[in-house]
Amino acid sequence: MRNPARQTRANRTLTVDFQNETTYFQLLGDGKAFVECVLAFLLAFGFQLAHKATCHGGGCLTRHSHYVRVRLGGVTIWRLQCTACRAVFTVLPHFVLRYRSMRPEVARDALLATHGGLSLELCAVLYHLSPRALYRLICAFGRQSLVTVLTRCGLPLPVYFLADEKHSRCLTEKVYLPTIVCGRVLWHLGSTTEASVAAFTESSQVFQRAASQQEPSYRVRGVLIDGFDSTTKSMRTLFPGAHRGHCLRHVLLKLPKKLVAMASPGRQTLRTQFHTLWYRARQRKGLRVFALGQRLRHFVDDVTSTAGAANGERVRRWFQDKKAGWYAVLADPQMPAISTLLDQAHNTIERKLFAMKGFHHPGGSQKAFLTGLAHLYNLIPYQRRAKHAGQCGVEVEGGRVPTTDWFLNLQILTSGGFR
Ligand SMILES: [Zn+2]
Repeated sequence: MRNPARQTRANRTLTVDFQNETTYFQLLGDGKAFVECVLAFLLAFGFQLAHKATCHGGGCLTRHSHYVRVRLGGVTIWRLQCTACRAVFTVLPHFVLRYRSMRPEVARDALLATHGGLSLELCAVLYHLSPRALYRLICAFGRQSLVTVLTRCGLPLPVYFLADEKHSRCLTEKVYLPTIVCGRVLWHLGSTTEASVAAFTESSQVFQRAASQQEPSYRVRGVLIDGFDSTTKSMRTLFPGAHRGHCLRHVLLKLPKKLVAMASPGRQTLRTQFHTLWYRARQRKGLRVFALGQRLRHFVDDVTSTAGAANGERVRRWFQDKKAGWYAVLADPQMPAISTLLDQAHNTIERKLFAMKGFHHPGGSQKAFLTGLAHLYNLIPYQRRAKHAGQCGVEVEGGRVPTTDWFLNLQILTSGGFR
């Protein structure tokens, strides 16, 4: 399994949906039908094979060689070759996992339990696996980037998104998870040991690079940020032209902390006034920004007269600090106004990390593991009683998944052999 030579070779494995095992075994005896079936599968989803960079096309696929997976009870696996560039593609049928003897049904159930928040250890007990095998499986899916998988589903690169960092722990060390979310889909989930601008920039650059590779003209129009200053600065470095906004829900939550040593009734009055102010600001179209500036100044005056000069000054400085971000949200109707969907994504990931000892060892493949968890977040359909029951995040955002089976989708979409 741990063959270093294998790591450096391009992964050109394809998972192909042959519908059922009998079909696959019948096709093994008919080379032409086998190749046609693979090509029909590729055509159905608009996938292209990852040929060698030197390939000018014009070649066709032929059956190249085959081998037998002894650990899977002797399943024959075929390799196809491009006659032009000689690139070799390994075709895995849907019922076989790459490098693993685990059955897909078992992996599907164990990953669903993991996604639901059950610890790796308990998942392993339920499905007769080793916790490490499950950990490695998640890491294996996480080797393929989120940008690649999401664009394979036909989702456009996000022009507006939410960015924040989750604070977590790896044993006793603090870790930070820089995150990019658009709607119900995670586009980036990194991991750093420092909360510095450099660390966050390096992490989110993974997303920026992958996106620019997909689409060299990729530009971000707006980012909603509510984290550390480092997140704001890293976004400014990576996406210089983008507007940076601040969440309009957080502003309401933060007010009580700004009003110090103040009697409850006066505090309540100011809170109500503040809620009304923001409600009106969001209702008004057109002159919203101008009206907000004026209203914020009035509000500072009210705080000063009812809560004293110190509170008034604190609130004024807070507004001074944040108002450009609020104006940015109000000035552009397409800009997301609240960061609730990002908070939800963070809560889901946090529940899992908390229950997972596998994550908490410094020698682990944190980045691949987190990306694997993010794939699960994007591709596992919501439960029966949920708002978008039966659909996964990718579908809610308008993306297309290859089959009705989320686990098969995960296998197909993270395959290395597609371009
Ligand atoms: Zn080729």
